[in-house]
Amino acid sequence: AHEGILRRQSARESAARTYARALPIVPVRARGMTIEGADGRRYLDCLSGAGTLALGHNHPVVLEAIRKVLDSGAPLHVLDLATPVKDAFTTELFRTLPPGLADHARVQFCGPAGTDAVEAALTLVRAATGRSGILAFTGAYHGMTAGALAASGGASDVRVARLPYPQDYRCPFGVGGATGAELASRWTESVLDDPKSGVPQPAGMILEPVQGEGGVIPARDDWMRRMREITAARSIPLIADEVQTGVGRTGAFWAVEHSGITPDVLVLSKAVGGSLPLAVVVYREELDVWEPGAHAGTFRGNQLAMAAGAATLAYVRENGLAGRAADLGARMTARLGGLETDFDLVGDVRGRGLMIGVELVDPQAPPPTTGGPPPPAPGLAAAVQRACLRRGLIVELGGRHSSVVRLLPPLTISDEQADAVLDRLADAVAEVAK
Ligand code: PMP
Repeated sequence: AHEGILRRQSARESAARTYARALPIVPVRARGMTIEGADGRRYLDCLSGAGTLALGHNHPVVLEAIRKVLDSGAPLHVLDLATPVKDAFTTELFRTLPPGLADHARVQFCGPAGTDAVEAALTLVRAATGRSGILAFTGAYHGMTAGALAASGGASDVRVARLPYPQDYRCPFGVGGATGAELASRWTESVLDDPKSGVPQPAGMILEPVQGEGGVIPARDDWMRRMREITAARSIPLIADEVQTGVGRTGAFWAVEHSGITPDVLVLSKAVGGSLPLAVVVYREELDVWEPGAHAGTFRGNQLAMAAGAATLAYVRENGLAGRAADLGARMTARLGGLETDFDLVGDVRGRGLMIGVELVDPQAPPPTTGGPPPPAPGLAAAVQRACLRRGLIVELGGRHSSVVRLLPPLTISDEQADAVLDRLADAVAEVAK
C-alpha cells in the first residue's frame, strides 16, 4: 500500500506540493507526537501540522469534544449564526485573552485558514482608519492570497512597506542585540515620519512576535514595546499575527504577553481550531466599525473546529502548558546550543518556548567580506531533514533560504520524547557533518 499510494499521489498532485517531497511517508495512524506509516514505521512528529497540533495528534479531550457535537445532532455548518458550540468557544477564547484586550474585545470568524484572518485584519484596520497602506517586516510570512480580493473587484490597492525585522544572527545592521533592534526601530520611525516614503499614513502595522516561516526569529521584547509605542503615538493599529505563536507555543499563552504589549488586533488560526480549520481575528471594540458583510467566508462556522478549539484552549490553560513549553523549550534550546560548538555547519540555535530553529551554514564558503555569519546552507538543512527521517524524526525546514531546521513539537511532549528528539537530531547533524 505504502509504495502504491506514494506513487499514485505523486503522479496526481500538483508540482506545488512540498512536504510530500521531503517526507515520503504515508501516515495511517497518529497519537500524541507519534505518527505511524503504512509501512509500519513510527516517527516522532516535530512538524505538528505546521504548528497546528498543540496537543499532538488525536488527543482524547479533542476527540471527545468532536464526538459530543457529532452525537448531539447539532448542525456542523451554519455560517455565522449563533450556536451553543460557538458560545462555548468564544467564552473560552475570551478567558485566555491578554489582560489589555480581554474586557473590550470583539471577534470575527473568518474562513478556515490563517490567511483568511490576515486578510480580515487588513480589511478591518483599513475600514477603521480610512487609510490603506500597511507596514510589514522583512522575512514575514502572513499567507498566500495575492489575488482573491483583486479578482473580486474589491479593495485591492493595499500598499505594503517593508521594514527591517531585527535579529541577532543575521542582523541587517551587523550589530545584533539591543543596538540592532534600536536601529531597526529608528529606521521604522524614519519611514513613518517621511512624507515621501510611500506610506506616510498607514492603516496598520502587522508583525509576528516570533517569525516562524522566516526561520524561527524571536523578536526582542524591547523592540516589541518600541513598535507598540511608535504605532500608538501615530494612531496606527498594531496587528499581532499569532497564527503560529499562539496557544502556548512560545511559552506564554499569547506571544505578545512576553513583552506585555496589547496589540489592537490579534490574528489567530492553527492551534485555536484544535487541529481542525478555524481562523479568527480578535480586536479592540473601538475598531469594530466595519459594515455587515465587510468580511465574509463560507466556512466561518465550522462547529467541529470550534468544539475542538475550545477543548484545546481549555486544556492548555488548565494544565499550564504554556509554562511547560517555556521550561522544556529553554532546556531543549540550551542542549541544542551544544551543536553550535561541536559542528561548524551549525551556525545558530534559537527559539522561544517550543518553537525552535537550528540554522545550517556553509563552513567551507569564504566568509562574507563585511563580516557576519557564513552563508546559509539549504542543502545541508535538507540533508539533516532526511537524516532525521531515517532516524524516525519528522522536522520542518524554514527560513528565508530554507536553511533552518525547525522543531514544533506538541506542547504535550514528554521529557523522554524531548530527549529522543534531541538525540536523533544531534545524530543526524553528526552524520551530515562527516
Ligand atoms: N501567519 C503566520 C504567522 C503563519 O505561520 C501562517 C502559516 N504558516 C499563516 C499566517 C497562514 O496561515 P494558513 O496557512 O492557515 O493560511
